Amino acid sequence: MTAAVDTLRPTGPRSVRVLRLLILAGLGYATWVTLRSPAGFPGGWPRLAYDATFASCAALCLLRARRVADARGGWVSLGTAIAVVAAADVYQQHGPRTGYPGPADYGFLSFYPLAYIGLVLLIRGRARRLPVGTWLDGLTVGLGLATLTAAVAYGALTGGSAGSVAAFVVGAAHPVGDLLLVIGVGGLAVVVGTRAGPMWYALLAGVAADVVADSAYLAHTLHGTPRVPAWVDLLWLASTGAVAAAAWLRQDPPRARHSSSTGTLLLVPISAAVTAVVVLVLGNTHQLPQLATALATLTVLASVARTALTFREVRVAAETRAQAVTDELTGLGNRRLFADRATAALREPGARTALLLVDLDRFKEVNDALGHPVGDDLLRQLGPRLAGRLRPGETLARLGGDEFGVLVPGLADTDQAVAAAERLAGALDDPIRVDGVDVLLTASIGIAIAPQHGSDSATLLRKADVAMYEAKRLGTGHRLYRPTSDRHTRERLQTASDLRRALDRGELLCYYQPQVELATLRVTGVEALVRWAHPTRGLLVPDRFLSLAEQTGLMRPLTEVVVRSALADCAAWHHSGIPLEVSVNLSAESVLDQRLLARISELLGESRLPPGRLTVEITEGSLLGESERVRRTLVALRDLGVSVSIDDYGVGYSSLSYLQKLPIDELKLDRALVTPIARDSRAAAIVASTVDLAHALGVRLVAEGVEDAASLDALAGLGCDRAQGYHLARPMPAEKVAGWTRDWARSAASLPAHG
Ligand code: C2E
Ligand code: CA
Ligand code: CA
Repeated sequence: MTAAVDTLRPTGPRSVRVLRLLILAGLGYATWVTLRSPAGFPGGWPRLAYDATFASCAALCLLRARRVADARGGWVSLGTAIAVVAAADVYQQHGPRTGYPGPADYGFLSFYPLAYIGLVLLIRGRARRLPVGTWLDGLTVGLGLATLTAAVAYGALTGGSAGSVAAFVVGAAHPVGDLLLVIGVGGLAVVVGTRAGPMWYALLAGVAADVVADSAYLAHTLHGTPRVPAWVDLLWLASTGAVAAAAWLRQDPPRARHSSSTGTLLLVPISAAVTAVVVLVLGNTHQLPQLATALATLTVLASVARTALTFREVRVAAETRAQAVTDELTGLGNRRLFADRATAALREPGARTALLLVDLDRFKEVNDALGHPVGDDLLRQLGPRLAGRLRPGETLARLGGDEFGVLVPGLADTDQAVAAAERLAGALDDPIRVDGVDVLLTASIGIAIAPQHGSDSATLLRKADVAMYEAKRLGTGHRLYRPTSDRHTRERLQTASDLRRALDRGELLCYYQPQVELATLRVTGVEALVRWAHPTRGLLVPDRFLSLAEQTGLMRPLTEVVVRSALADCAAWHHSGIPLEVSVNLSAESVLDQRLLARISELLGESRLPPGRLTVEITEGSLLGESERVRRTLVALRDLGVSVSIDDYGVGYSSLSYLQKLPIDELKLDRALVTPIARDSRAAAIVASTVDLAHALGVRLVAEGVEDAASLDALAGLGCDRAQGYHLARPMPAEKVAGWTRDWARSAASLPAHG
């Protein structure tokens, strides 16, 4: 991380400090000269110093380009633009006299395309992940500004077009170039957004000042004033100095601007549109340049598009939100609602809150014996029964499968939580009649209490889960969490020491499951899935040992092993000409483990892989709780060039708000939403709106658990970006990946691409 931060610091190598001093001195001197001879900037020594300052600005930009990989093109273009202007100015002062336009004039002109390319590259580098809406905002504001400029000042800036065709073209190019820069400035301001950091403010100020200086110069030369006042030259130099300074100032990481309300979102396109309409109306009565009318029309079109998009985004978000808080099967709240309510209850200072986890006993047997539809019917009937046993203020939600959560706020004492568990268990006293059979069920209930067992819902859920398993094992119906129940069962102790030894002996390894880009059928990467090659029990899947690793504090070494193998294998594939990306899973506690992150940073450095090859998958649960720490961690990962993916998206807490606040690159749609997609139109609709939402936020959507060709086709049709699943390939050992990828490329070449 340090490397990434270093390059953003305003201080740089010594050459940079020297250049910066030179520029400051040059500016000071030019100011003094301007004050002494305001009528026009003198030639000779003052002019030479002026051009030298210009050249130093160019050098500063070019030096920056050498230091940063991602914004190199932008700074090269801007540096070259400034260098060319400096050279043209020297030529004009000291070169042979030529007619108009001469080489110097062409030099001045080439500033525009170069500066424009530079700006576009810089904005693109920053805004690659920004949603379409923000781009449209930028375009609308830029066009609106240009409309105003054209209406007010364009006439003054064009005009005296004496002489040859070349003279006319060169004369007209300046106002056009400036107008384009105005669009650039408006776009820049919006795309960059607020809180972009000093680099962007300096760049914006520099370009804006340049446009002002340019326009003043044009107005003077085209309308017969023989000498341009010295302040215009000074402003030019200052604007160039600001651009050069920008090169070495800090920029803050971009964030999506979606937290604003619909009202503020619409403010931008509406004010641009109003400006444009006013210009159009004035065009009827006043003699306005045609260009102004044309720009006004474009502004109106852009703002209409922006408004339409805003409404669509808001609708999709609202729909998804409604779908996201109810459980389809039982009509109860879902995990997300539960987490929201829990977070709210836990925020009450000093309040005691119980979190109960109700899990049916032997439900799997019922399900297998009577069939899934019967199992579903059972859960559907159980929902209202449990709900009937709630007291006011309590929340019931289905957390998934046969698991229900109950939130009991405002407890007086622990006994009250136990009483609530007994009350809920009473819902099962009478048999439930399904498919002509009476089924008598029992449940195991785990209880965790805030604040003594934890203060955030993820921790409490985990502890309630531990207590629930104890209740199951002991057959006691319900059980209050005890710290000792985490570890002290004999069987667990046995495997815990096994696991520690396995880590030392290298028995943990990675299997890899490929991901395929749907539009091209290209293999883009693999997900690393941990396996335990147990000496006596065979190859174990993560379900068998992950929670153990979590409870015994072995998660960090485990994750380290996974990241190290994943990066080593990824580097090996790269060397054999197969550039795959690799994703690894981070558990909720790992996300906040600073030592682990530092280790990832080291391993990433050692691997010498180009940035952007590593993705970490985290679940929504890990985003709950300490949101500021989570945000900082994710930003640090982003600085390392690591992408962030939200795993199991759509079934968990799904609080959309984090999508707006956090730097997230990918959503990984849970297989519960993917599996039914080909037969169930509602599932397809949910996926479709998720695709829209993801794309509106500039986030990639990956579907996992793709088990058949029909699902694959359906996903491609809905615009999903990537897919992973048994239909494409099962997780495989590292040594099979290269061969599989080649075989896949060969057979995909003979298939029509999706999408
Ligand atoms: P996950 O991240 O959701 O990983 C996908 C799981 O779905 C994998 O199971 C994979 O084998 C399985 N799968 C893939 N395609 C299909 C399909 O088409 N149909 C079905 N039914 N299943 C499919 P696996 O390898 O058993 O991993 C289970 C979970 O263990 C993972 O779920 C992940 O949450 C966790 N896990 C795996 N490796 C690691 C790790 O290195 N660190 C951490 N913290 N967690 C891991
Ligand atoms: Ca995963
Ligand atoms: Ca998953």
